[in-house]
Amino acid sequence: MQDCLFCKIIQKKIPARIIHEDDDLLAFEDINPQAPVHILVIPKKHIPTSLDIGPQDHALVGKLFQAAAAIATERGIAERGFRLVMNTNAEAGQTVFHIHLHMLGGRLMQWPPG
Ligand code: 5GP
Ligand code: ZN
Repeated sequence: MQDCLFCKIIQKKIPARIIHEDDDLLAFEDINPQAPVHILVIPKKHIPTSLDIGPQDHALVGKLFQAAAAIATERGIAERGFRLVMNTNAEAGQTVFHIHLHMLGGRLMQWPPG
């Protein structure tokens, strides 16, 4: 999608610290990390919000979660724990309308989230 920041990162028009790429997904460091480990995992397919995920995306969304968990393992935080978050729309604080799984870890997380 033309004016989507994350589509531009996928197309390498905007630089990012990419840590994983395959045919379906991209994972990169968040530019404004909220935890010692803060990685975004995104599908290459432009899906604006979680509300737009359809039956055709089931396998893709499964891959998103599996990749995020695998990266947590690689970073050595899987045993301690980590958090996967997908914000949806304004009140949840979604700012980029291309779905992304935040993988946060390396510190004690609070609950409930703010
Ligand atoms: P949201 O608020 O939509 O759930 O998350 C968007 C995330 O994208 C934020 O955590 C923000 O720091 C991150 N972000 C925004 N612009 C950029 C960018 O240009 N590069 C990278 N790597 N992350 C970005
Ligand atoms: Zn996009």
